[in-house]
Amino acid sequence: MNFEQLGLAPALLRALTDYGYQTPTPIQAQAIPLVLAGHDVLGGAQTGTGKTAAFGLPLLQKLAALPKPEGLHRPRVLVLTPTRELAVQVSDNLRSYAKHLRLNVTALFGGVGMQPQVEAFRRGVDVLVACPGRLIDHLDRGTCKLGEVQMLVLDEADRMLDMGFLPSIKRVMKHVPHARQTLLFSATFEPRIKALALEFMRDPKEVQVAAQNTIAETISHRAHPVDGAKKRDLLIEILARRHTEQVLVFGKTKHGCNRLAEQLEKAGLPALAIHGNKSQAARQKALSEFKSGKTRILVATDVAARGLDIPELPLVINHDLPMVAEDYIHRIGRTGRNGASGEALSLVSPDEANLLRQIQKLLGREIAMETVPGFEPSRAIRSDAKPFDAAPRGPRPPRNRRPHGKPRDVAAHAHAGQKPAQRDGRRVGHPGAGRRDSRPA
Ligand code: AMP
Repeated sequence: MNFEQLGLAPALLRALTDYGYQTPTPIQAQAIPLVLAGHDVLGGAQTGTGKTAAFGLPLLQKLAALPKPEGLHRPRVLVLTPTRELAVQVSDNLRSYAKHLRLNVTALFGGVGMQPQVEAFRRGVDVLVACPGRLIDHLDRGTCKLGEVQMLVLDEADRMLDMGFLPSIKRVMKHVPHARQTLLFSATFEPRIKALALEFMRDPKEVQVAAQNTIAETISHRAHPVDGAKKRDLLIEILARRHTEQVLVFGKTKHGCNRLAEQLEKAGLPALAIHGNKSQAARQKALSEFKSGKTRILVATDVAARGLDIPELPLVINHDLPMVAEDYIHRIGRTGRNGASGEALSLVSPDEANLLRQIQKLLGREIAMETVPGFEPSRAIRSDAKPFDAAPRGPRPPRNRRPHGKPRDVAAHAHAGQKPAQRDGRRVGHPGAGRRDSRPA
C-alpha cells in the first residue's frame, strides 16, 4: 500500500516525498480513504501513530478541490487541539503537507497577543488549528467567524476532556455549521468519548490502531554521560570496540548525520547516512547495503528512519537524544523484537539532562548511567530530578505486573496512577517547550 493507492493528489504526494514519508502508517491507510469519501471518522490513535497526516492529508486535498472563496476567506477547516504545543506541531505539519497547495494554515493559542491573530484573520485563513480557550476569546469579540467551517477535527479529544475543555468545545460547536464533516481522534474510545461522538458526529466510521508506544522488556537501556564535544570520540570508541555488530545510530539533524557518517569513515568505520535531504534512491541504496551487511553502521534522523523498513538490530545508539520523548520509543523499537535481546545506548550531554528525564518519565523507569573513563562530563547530569514540565507526582506506577517478555504499553504505564490532568505531558521540541529545557533544574 502506498500513498498514491490511497487516492492522494500529486501535490500532496510530492510534499510527502519531500518530507521523507514512503509508506502510510496503519492509521493513515485506514482513515485517509474514509475521510476522502466524506465520512465522519472516529479514530483511536495516539501521538506517534501518524494521526496528524491521517486527518490532515485528506482534509487538505478536499479543501484544495473546493472553489476559492471571493475576498476575505474565513476558516473552512478547524482543528481543535488541547495544548499550544500540539497546535504548533499540528499546524507545522499541515503547512509542510500543504506546501504545494495555496492554502493558509494558522495556529491560534493563548499566552500571546490577540492583535497579530486578529490581523491574521483579516488576511484570510483556510485551516485554523486552535486551542479552545483562545478561540472562544476571538469568537466572543467577533474577531473570528466559524460560519464557513466545513471540516472539523477534535484532536486528542480525551486530553481535551481531561483538561476540562468540554464546555468550551460545546460553545465552539455552536458557531460551526451543522452540515460539516467531523473527525475525532482519541487514544481511547471510553464512554465519554463515545458520548461526544454521539452528540457531534453523524454515523461515524471507527478506525483504531494499537498503541505505538510499546517496548520490549528484553531491551537494556543505558546512558553514558559525556560532554557534547566528546560525543563523537566516545561513539568511535564504542563502535571500534564492538566491531562485529550492526548498529543504527540516531543523530539530531540531517547535516549532523552526514558529518557523523563522514567522521566515522575517516576513523576507519564505514558508515552511511540517511535523512530527508537524500533522494529516495540514495536512501534505499544505503538501506540495502545496510541490510545486506555491506555497511555495518547506519546514521539516521528520526524522520528518515520512520519511513524505512529497517531490520531487527542488536544495538541502537542515540548519539543525540530525540527532542520528543516518544521518538525514543520509536528509535529503540528497532531492537529487541520478538523476544530477542537488544540494547539501547544513549550518549547524554549535560544539556540533554531534561530530555533524559522526559524519556524516563515516559518509560516509567530510570535509565542506568555509566560514565566511561576518559569521557567524564564537565558537569554532572542529574537524571533523577523531576522533568521541568512534570506535575506533582501521583503514586508511582506499578512495576512488573505483566507476564515476563510481553511488551509493555509505555503510555498507559507512564500515565497509570496519575490524575487525568497530569496526562497533559507537554512535549519538548516546540518553541515554548524548548525554552523550558534550558532552565536549570
Ligand atoms: P503524529 O502521530 O501525527 O504526531 O506523527 C508522529 C511522527 O511520525 C511525526 O514525526 C510524523 O512526521 C511522522 N510520520 C507520520 N506519518 C509518517 C509516515 N507515513 N512515514 C514516516 N513518518 C511519518
